[in-house]
Amino acid sequence: MKKLIAGNWKMNGSLAANEALLGALAQGLAANKPSCDIAVCVPAPYLAQVQALKSVQPALSTVGVGAQDVSAQASGAYTGEVSAGMLKDFACRYAIVGHSERRQYHFETDALVAEKARAALAAGITPIVCVGETLAEREAGHTEEVVKRQLAAVIHANGHCISEIVVAYEPVWAIGTGKTASPEEAQAVHAVLRAQLKAATDQSARVKILYGGSMNAANAATLLAQPDIDGGLIGGASLNAPDFLKIIAAAQ
Ligand code: PGA
Repeated sequence: MKKLIAGNWKMNGSLAANEALLGALAQGLAANKPSCDIAVCVPAPYLAQVQALKSVQPALSTVGVGAQDVSAQASGAYTGEVSAGMLKDFACRYAIVGHSERRQYHFETDALVAEKARAALAAGITPIVCVGETLAEREAGHTEEVVKRQLAAVIHANGHCISEIVVAYEPVWAIGTGKTASPEEAQAVHAVLRAQLKAATDQSARVKILYGGSMNAANAATLLAQPDIDGGLIGGASLNAPDFLKIIAAAQ
């Protein structure tokens, strides 16, 4: 299966910084045609800018644009929320749902994350569903139970079209910390998630399972060589064009 390298810019960027980053990315992609899928998940106010830059930079035409969150609601009195329909207006192909920062700082529950995935799917947007355990949960031996519970909620709410999602395994203790799960640790969890998807759909082979958490230019190749790691969700290293390009190159 084609790998997917998705950048998660988080709350970073500016008009000027985005233009510079995507310009450098375009240059690198023009020089070395990627054979993996690529996406950038950008702050909502910059969706229009990124689409405009794509239209003038042919090398960016294959870069899918994504959002970092989506409302579970379709429209109405939900101040601050952005609906899947609005994202679709800006040609969003992906929306991250259930990132651990949303679960932690915005108290998003498994049920809400499942509803967000449903809203994205209904609009024809691929949800990138994040799951992952905290350090305390790992140390208590609960990793498998936690990621299975998080994914089960999404499967339960989206059974009929579950093969349309992307899953991202992001151990919370590895995000932005410079600590990466070892390729073996990551593969073990990916295998659990793969088995869970297999039990849910006969189309499970189509579902990409990304690894995220301090993936960088130096460690990407060994992580991506694992049989059940189908790509990466990249935070910090996606803000640096040479690093992001190296990860893309490692995903060939
Ligand atoms: P990181 O973030 O690559 O900076 O660890 C990954 C993520 O949170 O998606």
